[in-house]
Amino acid sequence: MKKSFLWQILAAFVLAIIVGLILGDRATYVQPIGDLFLRLIKFIIVPLILATIIVGVTNAGNMKKLGRLGSKTIGYYLTTSFIAIAIGLMVAIVLSPGTGIDVSLDEEKIPSGETQPVVETLLNIVPTNPIESLATANVLQIIFFAIFLGVGITLVGEKAAPVQRFFEGLAEVMYKLTSVIMMFVPLGIFGLLTPIVGEYGLDVLMPLMKLILAVLIACVLHILIIYSIALKSLGKMSPLHFFKGILPATTVAFTTCSSSGTLPVTMKNTQENLGVSKETSSFVLPLGATINMDGTAIYQGVAVVFTAQYFGVDLSISQFLMVALVATLASIGAAGVPGAGMVMLTMTLTAVNLPLDAIALIAGIDRILDMMRTATNVMGDATASVVVEQSEKKREAVA
Ligand code: ASP
Repeated sequence: MKKSFLWQILAAFVLAIIVGLILGDRATYVQPIGDLFLRLIKFIIVPLILATIIVGVTNAGNMKKLGRLGSKTIGYYLTTSFIAIAIGLMVAIVLSPGTGIDVSLDEEKIPSGETQPVVETLLNIVPTNPIESLATANVLQIIFFAIFLGVGITLVGEKAAPVQRFFEGLAEVMYKLTSVIMMFVPLGIFGLLTPIVGEYGLDVLMPLMKLILAVLIACVLHILIIYSIALKSLGKMSPLHFFKGILPATTVAFTTCSSSGTLPVTMKNTQENLGVSKETSSFVLPLGATINMDGTAIYQGVAVVFTAQYFGVDLSISQFLMVALVATLASIGAAGVPGAGMVMLTMTLTAVNLPLDAIALIAGIDRILDMMRTATNVMGDATASVVVEQSEKKREAVA
């Protein structure tokens, strides 16, 4: 059953490429199939995150464990994001994607560069009205609310037991619905990928081929080297087993360009194929889908070097350090939705006084870059869940 599912995914991929190439611009006919799939996975995100995090917190039982889980997860996320930027910068310096480009800038596509100050962003995590957070699918605020609700339920104890049971039931229902929706993954991939293949001709891609290659190579290096090392040494898992187990989520991420949208699939894959407990995955993954974006970090690094080269600016060592710092924040701040990384790029470019104009160039092919970075983002979250799970298991074995 599982094998045939992987084959279906592969078939959807191949079919999307063939049909997309044949239909060209007319490939948008199949877009509604893709949109239907997107809507299906999006509608379960809010109740899924809310219920599973509450259950995760109440099951953790004590604040000490929660604090430990939280600090491990965030520490791991920050470290890998930082490494990701370094890899992105290095690959871009070697490949020089910003030199020898013969495309003029489309002024209309230059973004305004207005981003929120850091303090504001941090304050915004605390919702003033949790119902509004749920209604607008503000994932960070929902996570905050769910953790607090979970803590409240634990502190109250017996009297809050019905509330706890309600959310346990809701979590199970959402897991079940995820399984049902998963059956449509191959169809969704076909519906989303075909129009993209049809839309992007070689004339759009060729001039910026080096940029696409730089992001691709940096992502692949990060996945193969950093994730494999983390999986083997910290997660005690064979990377091959991991890559196979997480393949459905990777392909959904690749086609939807949304880590948040992929979340239900990522949770299912890590629990069922990689043996991560519901407790760990329901805490590590929603958080990761929102704040851990290694692919986005890689992209920021590559894009900065690309822009500097395009405008013939030499960056100093201190500027590179600044990029590493700001790009980490930018990747944390980017929402897990399509194109978020490009918006956050304005923040990183501004930090080192580079013109935002180059984004107009990148915008033309950003969807392609988004596919690669989102797939990396999701694999990064899943790797973290394996690593955290293993370290928790080790602790329990010692205790
Ligand atoms: N689309 C990415 C994601 O959802 C974010 C980005 O644009 O970099 O993970």
